[in-house]
Amino acid sequence: MQIISNPLELQEYLKTQKGSVGFVPTMGALHEGHISLIKRARAENELLVVSIFLNPTQFLKGEDLDSYPTKDEADKKICEMSGVDVLFFPNVVDMYGDDEVSLQAPNVRGYVLEGATRPGHFNGVLTVVMKLLNIVNPTNAYFGKKDAQQLNLITLMVKQLFMSVNVVAMDTVRESDGLALSSRNIYLNEYDRKEALKISASLRVATKMVSSGKIKTQEIIQNMRETLYPLEIAYVTILNRDFENINSVEIGNTVILVEAIAGETRLLDNLWI
Ligand code: AMP
Repeated sequence: MQIISNPLELQEYLKTQKGSVGFVPTMGALHEGHISLIKRARAENELLVVSIFLNPTQFLKGEDLDSYPTKDEADKKICEMSGVDVLFFPNVVDMYGDDEVSLQAPNVRGYVLEGATRPGHFNGVLTVVMKLLNIVNPTNAYFGKKDAQQLNLITLMVKQLFMSVNVVAMDTVRESDGLALSSRNIYLNEYDRKEALKISASLRVATKMVSSGKIKTQEIIQNMRETLYPLEIAYVTILNRDFENINSVEIGNTVILVEAIAGETRLLDNLWI
């Protein structure tokens, strides 16, 4: 495995390579969720590039940029063992310098849900993903459905800016008790971690209701809120896959999204039905 930190050097290196390129962008502190993306990308491409970059522009002032978990050595080993060809490990100056150009997230879609809790967050996400995709120029790029709104906005960016990458959406990997894996789970103490299970439990409640024919979104949301109690809820919502409001679940075209706060930690989860 090669470790390259300079974007231009990576571009030069990739010019010398032939065949399809798979790309998995991450912020590090790799877990089984990331590994599932890496494995799929390994299987589907001749060359595999993984990036680890804790992107400062997607953190708002006062958020956890400084305390975000880093596990550089363990991450390198995981990448090595997963058959990664190139680990791209850039620094902030090489990625941003004194940039004056950045992307703006869409006015509505970028400022609802996670974008309402974290206004401006998706400007940083889209800017860094655009940069990374331009550096790597992959055939296929792999993203998790766990960050559903991020995935939606990246898919939109790729389509509307006529980018040639194929975006591959991957299912959420969970702990055996249902908790969606996240680098931020290490912030949870024992009590908060138990409380956090109410998030995946609320999605199971929704699944049960839908499978028994109860598809009215308001009714499902009400039951999910009861399951989540007493967690602080940022949002519970049911949208179609274009992120528009719907009154009834449309099988095959619906995403149910939850953000709740356990202790001090914001946790996202969702269900695609
Ligand atoms: P992050 O390092 O949090 O920026 O995540 C890097 C990629 O891994 C993103 O596309 C995430 O959506 C994806 N990811 C994070 N957690 C999971 C998970 N539990 N299951 C599947 N993919 C995930």
